[in-house]
Amino acid sequence: MKALVKKKPQPGLWMDDIPQPEVSHNDVLIRVLKTSICGTDLHIYNWDEWAQKTIPVPMAIGHEFYGEVAEVGSEVTGIKPGDRVSGEGHITCGYCRNCRAGRRHLCRNTQGLGVNRPGCFAEYVNLPAFNTFKVPESIGDDIAAILDPLGNATHTALSFDLVGEDVLITGAGPIGIMATAIARHVGARNLVITDVNDYRLNLAREMGATRVLNVEGDSVDQAMKDLRMKEGFDVGLEMSGNAGALREMLRVMVNGGRIALLGILPGEISIDWNEVIFKGLIIKGIHGREMFETWYKMVTMLESGLDVSPVITHHMLAEDFLEAFELLKSGKSGKIILDWT
Ligand code: NAD
Ligand code: ZN
Repeated sequence: MKALVKKKPQPGLWMDDIPQPEVSHNDVLIRVLKTSICGTDLHIYNWDEWAQKTIPVPMAIGHEFYGEVAEVGSEVTGIKPGDRVSGEGHITCGYCRNCRAGRRHLCRNTQGLGVNRPGCFAEYVNLPAFNTFKVPESIGDDIAAILDPLGNATHTALSFDLVGEDVLITGAGPIGIMATAIARHVGARNLVITDVNDYRLNLAREMGATRVLNVEGDSVDQAMKDLRMKEGFDVGLEMSGNAGALREMLRVMVNGGRIALLGILPGEISIDWNEVIFKGLIIKGIHGREMFETWYKMVTMLESGLDVSPVITHHMLAEDFLEAFELLKSGKSGKIILDWT
């Protein structure tokens, strides 16, 4: 089958012919129809330090997809060939304390699809049946292909009560943009989002942000004044992975404010811990999606009017992947969908 493979330990990706995955008794084989590109895939493409120490070579990459069940293992129940599916890309062990307590997102033995095991940028992908997610009729193919990152946005945004609260989102990448729509949907009051990229800030505005700020020129303090905010932001969603953005967030939080950290910071960074201590801030780290509570919540929000479709800015054919990766690098895109049919 055709697959997008990290074939050599150097920058780049290669469209290659590899064997179709085997289906063991608890697995589901999925015919991939659409995939979406994530920042993680770009790290693998660029072959940065993290990718070099993490990604086995050669291996097919990718973890955001939508497809159709082609075959199920002998022990699989509840899923049949032809079902429309997406999948949870974190494969958990099932026997550690957190897994057994139903907190699978905290499994210490998590394996990532397209990171630690062969991914979905291919004509077929296999997944444990537990990880497949049946897509309801109400959800279209394109949105089904981005449920993974929408799940990151959902998990982060719903970590704290947003009703009537003033929310700061740092980073208007695809996940920050979708978190904006979610915060709006669940009833936040002021919703301020920052980035250094005007193309993406415009998408965030379209998704319902009260103020979009390019931190290269705009000031958060001025925006707070304009919005008549007196004490600071109640909730912060850090979605840039930028140390400066986190420091700025800590500075403008209200006493007792709550922060969810999704953005992956570049190793060790310094912050003023006294901002955390004297303000009594609560900080929560976010990894992946809750299995499967986050999936349930995002589907019900989509079914009750949440519209994240503007975040999908481009559709391309899988064979045009080089162009797609260059576009993502340029910052002039939201989510890019690749068609595998
Ligand atoms: P992305 O890289 O597309 O978006 C990050 C955005 O932050 C970019 O638009 C960038 O311009 C912006 N930015 C850079 N400097 C900034 C600054 N000083 N202030 C404000 N914004 C700034 O990534 P994404 O796909 O939207 O994901 C968001 C973050 O979440 C990334 O760091 C990603 O690695 C991380 N992530 C974490 C998990 C997890 O499980 N914890 C899962 C998926 C993604
Ligand atoms: Zn586990």
